[in-house]
Amino acid sequence: MRTGTLGVNLSGLLPIIRRYLYTHSDVFLRELIANGVDACQKLLAIGPRENITLSPDQLRVEIVVYPAKRQLVVRDNGIGMTEEEVERFLTVIAASSAREFAEKYKETDIIGFFGMGFYSAFMVAEKVEVLTQSYRAELPAVRWIGDGSENYHIELTQRPEGRGTTVTLHLAKEYEEYAQVWKVRQIAEKYARFLPISISVEGSPINQKPLWRDHPTQVQPETYKQFYRLLYPGRPEPVFHVHLNIDYPVHLQGILYFPPLRPEMVVEKNTLSLYVRGMFITDQLSELLPPYFELLHGVIESADIPLNVSRSQLQIDPTVRKISQYISRKVAEKLKELAETDRSAYEKVWDSVGPFVKYGMVRDEDFAKRVKDIVLFHAVSGEFFTLPEYKAKVSAARDPRGFIVGFYVNDLKKQGTLAQLFQSKGYIVVKADSVIDPYWLSHVEASEGLRFVRVDAEEAARWLESNEGEGALNVQEIQSVKEALERLTALKVEPQAMGPNGPAALLLREESQRRLYEATLQGEVPSPSRFIFNTQHPIYRRYLLTQDIRWLEHARDWARLLSGDLGETDLQAFLSRDWSLLSGS
Ligand code: ADP
Repeated sequence: MRTGTLGVNLSGLLPIIRRYLYTHSDVFLRELIANGVDACQKLLAIGPRENITLSPDQLRVEIVVYPAKRQLVVRDNGIGMTEEEVERFLTVIAASSAREFAEKYKETDIIGFFGMGFYSAFMVAEKVEVLTQSYRAELPAVRWIGDGSENYHIELTQRPEGRGTTVTLHLAKEYEEYAQVWKVRQIAEKYARFLPISISVEGSPINQKPLWRDHPTQVQPETYKQFYRLLYPGRPEPVFHVHLNIDYPVHLQGILYFPPLRPEMVVEKNTLSLYVRGMFITDQLSELLPPYFELLHGVIESADIPLNVSRSQLQIDPTVRKISQYISRKVAEKLKELAETDRSAYEKVWDSVGPFVKYGMVRDEDFAKRVKDIVLFHAVSGEFFTLPEYKAKVSAARDPRGFIVGFYVNDLKKQGTLAQLFQSKGYIVVKADSVIDPYWLSHVEASEGLRFVRVDAEEAARWLESNEGEGALNVQEIQSVKEALERLTALKVEPQAMGPNGPAALLLREESQRRLYEATLQGEVPSPSRFIFNTQHPIYRRYLLTQDIRWLEHARDWARLLSGDLGETDLQAFLSRDWSLLSGS
């Protein structure tokens, strides 16, 4: 037995490492498992040369905990280490690479998956004990004990299990939860379940097959769904997936899933995981991928992504750019394929897929070009139109400057009646109710020369104009109603013939001003700018006959109801007035 002192100066290292752990806890276990897996793979690699016959399923990494003793044990039956290797790898090199790591961490915002190897055990342990037996059976086993300082203890001994390495962590009090089975299993599953060597926690194996490595033509649709359930237990089924598989110019595989989306659902981030050689690295891919892919689910595996550079560096890294371009192209291709080969299936998934596509179009010109012919409009009537189909349908409606005008709703509950009205006049009204729609509509306006007008926008009323003339008020009558309504609403009031079955009145806002407010959510909610009353609606004749102001109040409240401006108390008043007017009291 002997003790030794490292040649490198380690003072000041542990505080930095511990600080790192604070934000990236759990990675120490990833490192230890990775070492165990490496040790098994090294043995497999040298096996034939050294006359060791082995199959991969004879090799394993086992994790065992002893909560009462605050111990966590990671052991493998891999290649093992000789005394000389222990000294070299676990002390000198490990310590110096840890120091390098800590120095790098200090000066940059390291992305968090640049490994620091064996030494990371000291992030959580007061003492680490390694018992190892080299595959060269003639050599003795070695026990090494260190406490993270420059002093360590080493002795020659025996390892009852024979070849392999056992790493025992004597956990610091504040990290005792790493001696809990549930905790360790959770981390091991997160990081290591797709590794090619058997890994178990307290005797139960955690390995799963990395489906993304199979060839896409060999995977059944149901298998993709099963795999999704494995990754995201308890979540609703995905609506669409894209299997990524390239060898050149970078090597990358993966499966992207489109989760079902509903307007009221909160958008989750960090639902896409990056793996390198089967090991989970991160789910914070914002620097790696175009932002619209961050919202997708699934896995990506590539050994070509540079992991030891800072986040800001990643964004401009040529490999990373190539990867993100490839993914974006592949997603567009897959969607196009579905749109062209099975339009009804495509329409079925559109409401979930659409927001991603639109987000992509807004953020990425290349992507926009690729999908612009397959992006769909979902009409209130239930029909779907591609952009070219839509343009062909609506091209008759032009504003005074000659732009094609399209009508939309963003809240069918509130704007449904108006939408019906537009439809009854033969216009197509489309739904634009996802968070991305305001931006996307502006994008389409700019690139296609269209203009979108919400059905309750100021200028929408002129499209409802009727020339039927039936029941219309005469000039004096119009004037007297107009003045009375102006006193009542304190708004700019305008008469317009909208047919005897049209709405009694409309409360309208300026489209661009409102859209600006909705996009930024800053400033005051724009108040209605115009009050339009339908000169053909019978309610005004009633007013003129009875001079009962309640008829006008009622018309005003109808307008508020249509535009979603009628509050709870107003609604009460509206309902009781409705009854008293109907019953003639
Ligand atoms: P890295 O794994 O990045 O090389 P580590 O500090 O984790 O750095 O390990 C240093 C070296 O120690 C490894 O390269 C390996 O040679 C050796 N080693 C660590 N753990 C084991 C193990 N469980 N079995 C065999 N060798 C190991």
